[in-house]
Amino acid sequence: ATPTALLVGTGRGAQLGILIKGPEVLETTRAVDTIVLDKTGTVTTGRMTLLDVRTAEGVSEAEALRLAGALEHASEHPVARAVAAGAAERVGELPSPTDFANLPGLGVQGMVDGHAVLVGREKLLAEWALTLPEELARALRAAEAAGRTAVVVAWDGAARAVLEVADAVKETSPEAIRRLRALGLTPILLTGDNKAVAEAVAAEVGIAEVIAEVMPQDKVDVVKRLQAEGRSVAMVGDGVNDAAALAQADLGLAMGTGTDAAIEAGDLTLVRGDLRAAADAIRLSRRTLGTIK
Ligand code: ADP
Ligand code: MG
Repeated sequence: ATPTALLVGTGRGAQLGILIKGPEVLETTRAVDTIVLDKTGTVTTGRMTLLDVRTAEGVSEAEALRLAGALEHASEHPVARAVAAGAAERVGELPSPTDFANLPGLGVQGMVDGHAVLVGREKLLAEWALTLPEELARALRAAEAAGRTAVVVAWDGAARAVLEVADAVKETSPEAIRRLRALGLTPILLTGDNKAVAEAVAAEVGIAEVIAEVMPQDKVDVVKRLQAEGRSVAMVGDGVNDAAALAQADLGLAMGTGTDAAIEAGDLTLVRGDLRAAADAIRLSRRTLGTIK
């Protein structure tokens, strides 16, 4: 394509809510055949809500919420925001934690009111050599089967509660996936979240392939593996977690509603955070470069 055509394409992109880092990006956009989509904040709204609280025998819901909410208040993870907001709503003011540590892809830990508290996914319990009591394990599996993210709360050496949070698929996601497929791309859902939750979301938006329970630092390896299979890979994401994978992908698409780290790592920004703009970007590049009319 002529430089002029590329510039016109870039300008048209801006009108469609697609910010393109440089005209040459349109060339890579045209070639992608696989599109990897982060779940939380990309396919879903990322605005999670606390729905249910299950506690072990003799444990009050208020205490579980107070301890978990206090810790999660210090984290910016979408799950943490849901827990902190839900806890504040139900039990009022939350204490400040000390010795707070964020454990990326797992959860948080710290001291609250003199208790050593751990909040996060089930896998985190293993690191403290804790196990879930059978009643809570059952609640956790039921929540995940229903497409909810289950968060475990442990304190004073025992797992004592399971919190259930969920967010909604963006209204525009199913249409976006349909359009990406119509353009010949294979969509893959990639997430750190549990497999059952990921599969429920994938089914809702029409994605057949799911890669779940991937640690933040391992997302980039998933992209590399697909590239090693000879695929030309686009990655769409919004989180700090997604930055390395966005940079590794042949084409990185960042949600404009996401973190600065993701936007810096991407080749394209979907300004409104609407996944349909990913399909617009592919169409635009093919048009600009004369593949379709
Ligand atoms: P995603 O790929 O869906 O954006 P992450 O890799 O950030 O997710 O996290 C993976 C999983 O770890 C989350 O789905 C959640 O279950 C758990 N997790 C991460 N951070 C927290 C936290 N602060 N509190 C509770 N759970 C968390
Ligand atoms: Mg995300």
